[in-house]
Order: sequence, then structure tokens, then C-alpha cells
Amino acid sequence: MSDLNFDLSLVSKYHAASQKIRILTENWLEIHSYCPCCGNSIVHYENNRPVADFYCKECQEDFKLKSKQNRLSSKIIDGAYQTMIERLPSARNPNFFFMVYQDYSVKDLILIPKHFFTEDIIEKRKPLSPKAHRAGWIGCNIILKQIPESGKIYYIKDRKISSPELVLEQYKKTLFLSNQKSLMRGWTLDVMLCIDKLASNIFKLEDIYKFEAVLQAKHPENHFIKDKIRQQLQYLRDKGYLVFNGRGIYKRI
Ligand SMILES: [Zn+2]
Repeated sequence: MSDLNFDLSLVSKYHAASQKIRILTENWLEIHSYCPCCGNSIVHYENNRPVADFYCKECQEDFKLKSKQNRLSSKIIDGAYQTMIERLPSARNPNFFFMVYQDYSVKDLILIPKHFFTEDIIEKRKPLSPKAHRAGWIGCNIILKQIPESGKIYYIKDRKISSPELVLEQYKKTLFLSNQKSLMRGWTLDVMLCIDKLASNIFKLEDIYKFEAVLQAKHPENHFIKDKIRQQLQYLRDKGYLVFNGRGIYKRI
């Protein structure tokens, strides 16, 4: 992964900017990137698929690549809303690579594991206008701020490359989420987001209780928010995401 530059010789015959960038970014990812689950290289699907661009031959994980010039935005434009929502529960839902490039080289490369994808992070866009080629078509955005920090695995951050060992370790750390049913997983992710908002990695139960109103607004049908918070903290502790130091004090690992 040491060479962050795109291979411009690949696109000398192409004119459309979007096509050039797709070829350059996909080629770079296939040569330099690897599967966060097993560390093996990833392979481009031979034919274009709407759902995934790459896969790992070893563990069959699927991957999709989205790229953007200069800097990461808070929302990433993706494909059809309905397709995205329908495939969320599928085991073949792809992991997402987000690449930020600048001057034909990679600046940031972030992986969002598939188990961080829930309806909460998919935003419905306005239907295309009646005059558009695909009138009425509804796309979606992926909202990055709704994803806990532990769900953003940096292969490259501001041109600094992480070690594969670190990437694989980070991926493993939250793999327990993939075994959860979606409603339960939603609660775990909500509590993970609350923990992200705290100033310190060491915190008290009361610090998380301060988010009770926020969580209540999100889950109006639930009347036992504090119980739910404690249940989730216990779950995260059991999964090695937190340690409990006694006397209501938790520490994020
Ligand atoms: Zn793999």
C-alpha cells in the first residue's frame, strides 16, 4: 500500500472524468487494499454489479467502493434507497470503502464494516424531477455522523498508512455486532454513539443516563430507557468493548 498514486496510464484513452476516476480508484484499491477480515487481497467482480464491486476469495466478504475528491463530506451519495434498505438484513450486504483522493492520489481510505449499516444511517433523497432521465427514482445518502467511531476503520488517514495488523484488530473488535438482530443492534449502536460523545474514555453510568431524553425521542415506544442503557453497557462489556471498573465506572478499551 506504500504507493498512494493512481496509475494514470490506464486512462489515457478515456475522456469522461467520472469514468476515469472510477477506473483509477478501483484499480488502486484492487492492487493495494486487502480484506479487513482475513488480510487477503480483494478482487474486482468481472461484471459490474449494483450491490458490490469487490470480493474476498478467502472469506467471501463483499465490498463496495465510493470515492470523493479533496475531502470527506458528512453524507455520501449512494444508489437506490429501496434496494439499500432491503438488503440491510442480508449476510451478503457489502462492506463499504470510502476513498478521498486529491491530485490523483489517495488521501484517506476508510472502511465501514457491513454490520454498522442500519436504517438509521440511510437517508432517503428526494425523488428525481419529472424532467429527469430517471424521473421519480429515489436515491439515498449514507450519513457518516450516525456511525460510531469504532465503525470507521482508517486504512489511510491524511496519507498516513495504518498497519494491516491494526486494521484487522479493529475489524475484529466489533465483529460481535454482526451476530445481533437488527433491533438489538440498533440499540447497541445508539449507546456506542453516546459513548463517542463523552469527553473521556472513562465514564460513569450517570454520564450515559444524560442521553436518556435523546434515546427516548428515538425510541418512543420504549419506557425503560435506563434499563436498556444498562443492558447495552453490560453487553458491550461482555463483548470486550468496555471494562467495568466497579462502582458504576466504565472504561472504553
Ligand atoms: Zn477475507
